Amino acid sequence: MTDPLKPGATIGILGGGQLGRMLSVAAARLGFRTHIFEPGANPPAADVAHSITTASYDDVEALAAFAKACDVVTFEFENIPTAALDVIESITPIHPNREALRTSQDRLIEKTFLKNLGLKVAPFADIASANDLKTALETIGAPSILKTRRFGYDGKGQSRLRSVDDAASALADMAEHPAVLEGFVEFSAEVSVIGARSATGEVACYDPGENVHRDGILHTTTVPARLTASQRMDAVLLTANILNSLDYVGVMGVELFVTPQGFIVNEIAPRVHNSGHWTQNGCTVDQFEQHIRAVAGWSLGDGSRYADVVMENLIGDDMNRVPELLKNRDTALHLYGKADVKPGRKMGHINIVQRLS
Ligand code: AMP
Repeated sequence: MTDPLKPGATIGILGGGQLGRMLSVAAARLGFRTHIFEPGANPPAADVAHSITTASYDDVEALAAFAKACDVVTFEFENIPTAALDVIESITPIHPNREALRTSQDRLIEKTFLKNLGLKVAPFADIASANDLKTALETIGAPSILKTRRFGYDGKGQSRLRSVDDAASALADMAEHPAVLEGFVEFSAEVSVIGARSATGEVACYDPGENVHRDGILHTTTVPARLTASQRMDAVLLTANILNSLDYVGVMGVELFVTPQGFIVNEIAPRVHNSGHWTQNGCTVDQFEQHIRAVAGWSLGDGSRYADVVMENLIGDDMNRVPELLKNRDTALHLYGKADVKPGRKMGHINIVQRLS
């Protein structure tokens, strides 16, 4: 393990969206500088970072100069091209590690990894052709969901099959990308655990949050989730199992379906997670500080909660509600500084806080 970073060190962040922005704010609070690498102009993180490189992920010179300027590099999204990571890693350490990224970038590798750990996942099959889909439907059946193996987010790259008759159109939706077929899980709720692991192997998990999606995008996360004490323990233990087996350093989001047979792991995200935003106003050390501490080689904060929180995403025109929302005195507002309001665009979020007495 490398020595813990000293305040004043520079943490590189691949991606300049809202997660990069909130990571930068947390890093600044700990005395670090952040350097954002982002292909798009004027990203949300640029307002609060020390430096920014505007370049594409195939610009080897820009990647090398960025890596040289950083003491450690982390990321706010998982779909970073492998070649870009190779350039950076030859110069500067990357946390979380490449294995965690490789595992979570591809749904087939991810599901296989989780299954081999002894965790439950939806029945799945690798789909590279119409014939694969036909064979898989004979065992998995319908309803089921066809998902691209890579580059899916917020429900994108997915097609639901209500019956086997939907096979051809679902396959067409994949636009020739490799895919997995997943059996449809009849869940009673969706929850997620935000877990963290330090460079010395210390693990801290936050209380599971209960997630509600609208149009494939996270709408609200509520803590506490409606789970029994033993379910809570189970969710935290399985998250620690995933973190340990990947020798993970940083924060991870683990999405779970609640079923009568126990938890089914939907997916893992090797980064801070939208469903962990409630920690900003419900915990002493939030997920952003926790991630920065971990990648800096520092000790973790405690994950325990001092408030009940409902986090609600502000999407597109929800921005018009801001003046009204400000009237609620127990609501914390977090805006991402995005100039253009677009339908489906995450503009900010609120945390409605009720302190535990
Ligand atoms: P994902 O991109 O895999 O997180 O999927 C987005 C959302 O689609 C999830 O949060 C679930 O609400 C739903 N979903 C995904 N996979 C399944 C499944 N196998 N069974 C039931 N619902 C699913």
